[in-house]
Amino acid sequence: MNNFQYRKEMSAKTAVNSAASRNETAFIAGGTNIIDLWKYNITNPEILIDINDIEELKHIQELENGGVRLGALVKNADTAYHPLIEEQYPLLSKAILAGASAQIRNMATDGGNLLQRTRCYYFYDPDVPCNKRSPGSGCPALNGFNRMHAILGANDNCIAVFPSDMCVALAALDAVVNVRSVNGERSIPFEDFHRLPGDTPHLDNTLEKGEIITSIDLPPNKLNQNYSYLKLRDRHSYAFALVSVAAAFEINGKQITNAAIALGGVAHKPWRVKEAEKFLIGKQATEQNFEQAAVIILDGAVGRGDNDFKIPLARRAVIRACFMALNPNTQRPGAQPAL
Ligand code: SF4
Repeated sequence: MNNFQYRKEMSAKTAVNSAASRNETAFIAGGTNIIDLWKYNITNPEILIDINDIEELKHIQELENGGVRLGALVKNADTAYHPLIEEQYPLLSKAILAGASAQIRNMATDGGNLLQRTRCYYFYDPDVPCNKRSPGSGCPALNGFNRMHAILGANDNCIAVFPSDMCVALAALDAVVNVRSVNGERSIPFEDFHRLPGDTPHLDNTLEKGEIITSIDLPPNKLNQNYSYLKLRDRHSYAFALVSVAAAFEINGKQITNAAIALGGVAHKPWRVKEAEKFLIGKQATEQNFEQAAVIILDGAVGRGDNDFKIPLARRAVIRACFMALNPNTQRPGAQPAL
């Protein structure tokens, strides 16, 4: 039993002040991941800062530029079913509803979704080494059971994948993460928020110590007519993605005028290759062009044995998600996909 102090804070300002006052602190919001991490002794805060009653972080609001701001403490389910999100960012609704279970989506917060940690089984097993849990100790997944692991952006330090569905859509939608610390506020483009393992596999993101996510901004776009979120997994609910694809287009006739494609389940962060999107812009929405985009996205993909199957699976998933985006109605329960 580890003793800890519990503090409830009522504003973002006092929360970051509390976090700055001691070495080992942790924020708790929905608690859907940190409780697991604590039970497995992966995290051990001296002070647990409960931010659930910070009213200023609980709202979804329209921005003057036509975009939408998600408060960090808005529940995932409330975001997915919010009229503004269903209308303007249906790709985000679909991605959230593909994740976890209804019970978890009712508890988990939008800020917390960004901060969840990998579900690599070795990471949660304190009896084996793990560079993410204990830097320099090794990575048993390299020559172990690595069916769920990364095919892109990994190295021998860590081949874990980031497990979120919501974040795959946020990456495709060019979201911006607003954070606060005792030093003030700053905004982080989504593509810079999560990290690849590099030489620091223990770091999942670019948050500084004591920083708190206050909100996530969705810029205005016209990606709400042709979109899809395709999640391939071992069972139809309550399972993490083997591969997922968020795809959205603006289309004029049959010509693609804007494209956004991001993959989940394949890397240490949501995987987006803008060269593939540039390739598609100005092209016809054809299988040949979608296949070429998939080839660009998967350039450099490496399997580690058990997960070799993910490379062809991801290629086919990109093509299929692009076709599904041409006709979002095909994503109704029971409907046949376009390809
Ligand atoms: Fe740890 Fe990463 Fe290796 Fe999993 S893949 S055992 S998280 S270092």
